[in-house]
Amino acid sequence: MSIAQNLLKIKSTLPEHVTLVAVSKTKPVTDLMEAYEAGQRIFGENKIQEMAEKWEQMPKDIQWHMIGHVQTNKVKFMAQFVSLIHGVDSLKLVQEINKQAQKNDRIIDCLLQMHIAEEETKFGLDEEELTSLLSSNEFQKMKNIRIVGLMGMATFTDNKEQIKKEFTHLKSIFDSIRSTDAINRVSTVSMLSMGMSGDYQLAIECGSTMVRIGSSIFGGRK
Ligand SMILES: *Cc1c(COP(=O)(O)O)cnc(C)c1O
Repeated sequence: MSIAQNLLKIKSTLPEHVTLVAVSKTKPVTDLMEAYEAGQRIFGENKIQEMAEKWEQMPKDIQWHMIGHVQTNKVKFMAQFVSLIHGVDSLKLVQEINKQAQKNDRIIDCLLQMHIAEEETKFGLDEEELTSLLSSNEFQKMKNIRIVGLMGMATFTDNKEQIKKEFTHLKSIFDSIRSTDAINRVSTVSMLSMGMSGDYQLAIECGSTMVRIGSSIFGGRK
């Protein structure tokens, strides 16, 4: 099947409240354009340099999502155009995003990445770090960054029960910060980014509002 066919097939199965991020990392602009022509406007990349190059070449009504781990010193290369940063997991990074957003006279929307997998290698905050970041004075004062939700990745495993447990855990953290009045800065929290090609149906069952799908649309990566 073609990229357009893959895309339309997946889109037809997604509930209306779930946003599709087409993960186009490593893929050439011609592939992205095929998805664009089929109506896709949200693309996810995991390297800032690659995303910036594609942004320069492609139509300007595309929303670019940074889904990979972000190095603080590279935020400036995307601050002008990035639409949502998924992998934010430290106060230091939050501060840099706020600073670069201010320089560009805009507000940058971000998701805080939670560590929900069993693996040690995955990035992300635990619940204590999340609470302390959101309630910190520094964060409360920032005017150019907006935390609009959470993101997480489940353990890389075939064990559906394990994945379900981790997604359900992330959903419960999401619900709890949404209901916390004390953290008034996060009243805009509405997005829960969880689910990839292999587990997005399960993620949606567990409450995901945003899925990040790459290989099922564009084919495998080298
Ligand atoms: C690559 C990537 C995806 C997409 O993975 P697929 O299995 O190809 O759908 C989703 N989220 C993140 C953070 C990624 O790096």
